[in-house]
Amino acid sequence: MRTVHAYAAPSATEPLVPTTIERRDVGPKDVLIAIRYAGICHSDIHTVRGDWGPITYPQVVGHEIVGEVVEVGPAVSKHAVGDRVGVGCMVDSCRECDNCRAGMENYCLNGSTDTYAAVDRDGTITQGGYSTHVVVDEDFVLRLPDAVDYAAAAPLLCAGITTYSPLAHWKAGPGTRVAVVGMGGLGHMAVKIAAAMGAEVTVLSRTLAKKDDGLAFGAQDYYATDDDATFEALADRFDLLVNTVSAPLDVDRYLRLLRLDGTMINVGAPPEPMPVTMFTLFGNRRSFAGSTIGSIAETQEMLDFCAEHGIAPETELIAADQINDAYERVLSGDVRYRFVIDTTTL
Ligand SMILES: [Zn+2]
Ligand SMILES: [Zn+2]
Repeated sequence: MRTVHAYAAPSATEPLVPTTIERRDVGPKDVLIAIRYAGICHSDIHTVRGDWGPITYPQVVGHEIVGEVVEVGPAVSKHAVGDRVGVGCMVDSCRECDNCRAGMENYCLNGSTDTYAAVDRDGTITQGGYSTHVVVDEDFVLRLPDAVDYAAAAPLLCAGITTYSPLAHWKAGPGTRVAVVGMGGLGHMAVKIAAAMGAEVTVLSRTLAKKDDGLAFGAQDYYATDDDATFEALADRFDLLVNTVSAPLDVDRYLRLLRLDGTMINVGAPPEPMPVTMFTLFGNRRSFAGSTIGSIAETQEMLDFCAEHGIAPETELIAADQINDAYERVLSGDVRYRFVIDTTTL
């Protein structure tokens, strides 16, 4: 075991505090990573505050992790000491079910092991990236291409892959019209990635406050959803609509923006059910779909794609003692577009 510095939530209602946690010994197929940067995802906040159910405290969160390999187990073949690597939302899966065998560990039928707040194979609770070191099985460690900026790379491991995977799966590209709903951490990545794939991108945001950003990130159009005229102007227009908003919205209203065989893909997770009217789906043979992160292979593909196209998230670098303030700013929407923790300040 190894004791490392971390920032943890002591309970659902208290601020995060500096602490130390134990990391397991490096096993034959494990990689020890000295974490350099960790992104702050809205899921981190939901998890520590118990919004998605009770968890065990103290809990360290963070699933947008980049750092350097400092030790490898004797059976490790994919990574070497000194490599720049990343870890995203999962650190293990059963590897035996149909979905794992198909290379889709994120849809593991026995449940992939989340990077934090999940029961690990040794029975301990996984602890996330707001820490100086982590030990991860090499199969769940990604290679960071040299061209990807180190600090900016962190949010690719969740926000990047969560939007890349459905855009690739539903074939965003030249000749397709993609609408991105919401311009937060996920939305701004969806805009950049869909534009780099060659799609015609439109942003649908509550107001026009971030319009200049949206156009700079590669969108052709930008509409306010507060304005009813938007929904009339854009009816029957899009092939894909990526909904990154985690609050409930009027699904039928958005579905009607899809043209023939269009798909509305949901990557945000409102806690409440959202009703859908069948007749809205019948029109234009529309689909209503969901997607969660991406497989390990897809995540590597996404990192390579971002390196090739020069895509990086917009980030604000913070020190560890700013994490609690950053949480409040994420909750009030006051971030453009992702906080990244400099883990040397832990
Ligand atoms: Zn996340
Ligand atoms: Zn599985």
